[in-house]
Amino acid sequence: MARAKADTKYVFVTGGVLSGVGKGITAASLGTILKARGLSVSIQKCDPYLNVDAGTLNPAEHGECFVTFDGAETDLDLGHYERFLDIELTQASSLMSGRVLREVIDAERGGKYLGKTVQIIPHVTNHIQDTIIKTAKGFDVHIVEVGGTVGDYESLSFIEAIREMSMRVGLDNCLFAHVVYVPYLGASGEFKTKPAQNAVRELRGLGIVPDILAVRSEVKPPKSTVAKLSLFSGVDKEAIVLLPNASTIYQVPLTLEGSGLGDVITGRLGIRRVPANLTSWRRVVKSAQTKYHKSVKIGVIAKYLDNQDTYMSLTEALKASGWASDVNVDITWIDAEQLEKDKQYREGLKDMDGIVGLPGFGSRGSEGKIWAANYAYENKLPYLGICLGMQISIIAMARRAGLAKANSTEFDASTPDPVISTMAEQVGKENTGGTMRLGDWTCVLESGTKARKIYGQAEIVERHRHRYEANNRYRDQYEDWGLRISGTSPDGTLVEMVEAADHPFFVGTQAHPEFRSRPNRPHPLYTAFVRASLAKK
Ligand code: GLN
Repeated sequence: MARAKADTKYVFVTGGVLSGVGKGITAASLGTILKARGLSVSIQKCDPYLNVDAGTLNPAEHGECFVTFDGAETDLDLGHYERFLDIELTQASSLMSGRVLREVIDAERGGKYLGKTVQIIPHVTNHIQDTIIKTAKGFDVHIVEVGGTVGDYESLSFIEAIREMSMRVGLDNCLFAHVVYVPYLGASGEFKTKPAQNAVRELRGLGIVPDILAVRSEVKPPKSTVAKLSLFSGVDKEAIVLLPNASTIYQVPLTLEGSGLGDVITGRLGIRRVPANLTSWRRVVKSAQTKYHKSVKIGVIAKYLDNQDTYMSLTEALKASGWASDVNVDITWIDAEQLEKDKQYREGLKDMDGIVGLPGFGSRGSEGKIWAANYAYENKLPYLGICLGMQISIIAMARRAGLAKANSTEFDASTPDPVISTMAEQVGKENTGGTMRLGDWTCVLESGTKARKIYGQAEIVERHRHRYEANNRYRDQYEDWGLRISGTSPDGTLVEMVEAADHPFFVGTQAHPEFRSRPNRPHPLYTAFVRASLAKK
């Protein structure tokens, strides 16, 4: 096998003990401190699920489905990567087992293996390595996070692939960081390192000797924990970093840098030592930790309330908008279904300064969401409708104007007034599936609208993920409904943004601007909404 050119350095991030302790944040933070040294950094997530992408994964279980500009439906960690590294990733950065296997099987069917027996090693593992190397091309450092926990049956081929990578690119050019968890036993007041020791042993058993240990815990363990872990794992004390729970996830790069890890990594990889410039990052952390004098209460009308990771990018965009406006954004989760049936519960909306109509799929809670949009309109309460939230606002306004049964065909296939429907339905074709509008789409903003003013430009690009559209058949009625179409696709055929004419802020977008929001550069639409909510207060 050809040895890959070694001008890219690789950092592999694995996890032990248990999942869900912030491996993604750690990987993103490693990238942040390297980028702060002027290095070009790319990053990729390997997910052991047999899914081909995250499009079909239940967000209540897996959290948000993050969409890249090129239309990939990915794991929410890619959202962290984009926000921490301030880059735009592509499909290549999300590698799920299902995709790997499908590509290998397609190659087999295409006769590419010339009659050979196709096996996990080398065919699957080589395919993973080739994909990693292709994604890394042109960057100084490429970070690869392997999802799940080392030792899981399903992640074995990824672990083997990264082990082989060290032979392929040379040990000097790669580094293995293992994220472990150290529990604290309140009863005896002890930190227990045994699970972490075992996790390192597990990794070594698979042929990988970790260079770095990132130690997650609820509270900060004493120094002796480091000494103990170092002794049992063989990892230098300098390369063990303690990551107790932080008040904000954005603190993690500063903790890594503060513990000297940046120099450990560059030293180990033979990268020229330069000081890290984390000035703007420190500003983000400071604003995230500040308690402002003013607060706004934002009600988000949600279907999933158990796992708030479901709306990760959106809540990050709201929070960052608060930081940029010196205001605390207090988010209240409002159960759309309960709004439908519980009058008392509806009273809760009285305390809100603004309402967000969230993205979503399926009819559950739709009447509650429509009720909330209507409430916001009537009470001149700022309303920001994101994707489904925009569709909901259109339905609410149509109903107000007398189309009492107006609906989306997603919620009611036989509505007499399908003000939201699929394009196929609109042109009288059968729905064939696979017709999602995904990734970047251009939108032209109408002059004189709020949207145009907020964006400050006539043409914008935002990411999309939806199947349903505003029904063009009703467009000439919008004015009577009190709505303005403020943005359309360049050819005018798709409604992209709407707003109510006589309302302080009643704005809907078919897109997901939250995917492009950054902690230090919050999206203008979210910022405008937070400011309108503050003004309402
Ligand atoms: N379910 C709606 C559609 O498919 C909205 C999707 C979304 O909010 N992302 O069009």
